[in-house]
Amino acid sequence: LPSLLDDPSLLQTKAYVNGEWITGAEGEFEVTNPARGDVIAKVANLSRAQVAGAIDGAYLAQKDWAAWTAKERSTVMRKWFDLIMANQKDLATILTAEMGKPVTEAAGEIAYGASFIEFYAEEAKRIYGETIPGHQRDKRIMVMKQPIGVAASITPWNFPNAMITRKVAPALAAGCSFVARPASETPLSALALAVLAERAGIPAGVLNVLPSDSASEVGKEFCENPKVRKLTFTGSTQVGRILLGQAADQVMKCSMELGGNAPFIVFDDADLDAAVQGAIMCKFRNNGQTCVCANRIYVQAGVYDAFAAKLKDAVANMKVGDGLEDGTDLGPLITAKAIEKVQDHIADAKSKGAEVILGGGETLQGPGYFIEPTIVTGASRDMKFSTDETFGPLAPLFKFENEDDVIEMANDTIFGLASYFYAKDLSRVYKVAEALEYGIVGVNTGIISTEVAPFGGVKQSGLGREGSHHGIEDYLEMKYVCLSV
Ligand code: ADP
Repeated sequence: LPSLLDDPSLLQTKAYVNGEWITGAEGEFEVTNPARGDVIAKVANLSRAQVAGAIDGAYLAQKDWAAWTAKERSTVMRKWFDLIMANQKDLATILTAEMGKPVTEAAGEIAYGASFIEFYAEEAKRIYGETIPGHQRDKRIMVMKQPIGVAASITPWNFPNAMITRKVAPALAAGCSFVARPASETPLSALALAVLAERAGIPAGVLNVLPSDSASEVGKEFCENPKVRKLTFTGSTQVGRILLGQAADQVMKCSMELGGNAPFIVFDDADLDAAVQGAIMCKFRNNGQTCVCANRIYVQAGVYDAFAAKLKDAVANMKVGDGLEDGTDLGPLITAKAIEKVQDHIADAKSKGAEVILGGGETLQGPGYFIEPTIVTGASRDMKFSTDETFGPLAPLFKFENEDDVIEMANDTIFGLASYFYAKDLSRVYKVAEALEYGIVGVNTGIISTEVAPFGGVKQSGLGREGSHHGIEDYLEMKYVCLSV
């Protein structure tokens, strides 16, 4: 891997704590390339005591960081953004090597991840308080916005860069310091970000990257340590519930970006070609491994067969392979377990009457975790993917007759992150957009992520929002000052 990089010093395997690169008291853990199955790095494995030590450093550093002017914080953050973009290619290579997505997609993630740093560097200067007309003649009321303190994150492997910058950028802009525990499958992208943060001049202790293969130990330390005032998590609803429970003891502020089960609805007045394009981007981006990927595709009866045929043609042309090779559309899945889940969902659907019209979930020539993309028709709500996110390249097509039915089916889930639909009729567009119980609705588009909009879910998909001017509020406290004059 180092030989593929223009700047091999971006490949760090030590932890970044209080401005120092340290080894792990628990030794090292291995990072594997999912396309080749080989070990690409051994990374510092921190103990719980080392995590606590990092929190101490972050706690001290935060006081000083918060005292910097907004413009000073903004300037180093902007520099960090510039350095990330200057090293986009190397960062994408590292990301693909540890996570598997095609390197062009990885480069897209680096730019997307960096955009949060750019945006919040600007937003740091716009943390406005408020004055409110007093309730008595001698009273003046002021509302201050202040940083919460030390923020801690636990993040997944599917976006090794962007899941971290989405959290770190608003936190640092607000004047919080940060301790990040990256997923143990993909710590290298996070450590590379820290290398560049250090170069940009982000002060020691303000950003710490803490690799550990014991997520539950780190999670406990984050929740139980009184110096941590904010927990931000992206991952499954199951783990989110555990962390919310643990955080309850300290009544810690939490942001949760949890699982989804996105419906993608194609009405009979849709532009079918655009809908197919949107479905491809939405379903197969990151090989189906995003929490906003379409999981259930509902197609109105009149266009069902035509949509299925067009989707089949488009997916049949997608090339599965090593993400570092040219022309790859779909990389490997992250683990053998991820493959089993997709295969289980296909087998379950077949046993309940679905028809496989493309693929079938065969694994492809190893050693990596490759699986062929699959489309099934005749999907029904008793099949596993109706309630459970497949997180892989399986597109199930449900047939529906009318608007009310599909809204009811789309909302029949504990999740409420992203949803999508294609339609032209304006009153239908309004009605369906209002009726979908989701934090995000894509209308005539399959791609909704951007740093300028609030990303987040309702129901059991989460708490809080990331991105936009709203996203920084998750890292700020309001203080009401009542002044008698
Ligand atoms: P995913 O399927 O995306 O990996 P998970 O919710 O299982 O979703 O994992 C998301 C992150 O949470 C990962 O970094 C994982 O290591 C971490 N994690 C898993 N279990 C726990 C736990 N009990 N406490 C804290 N973090 C956890």
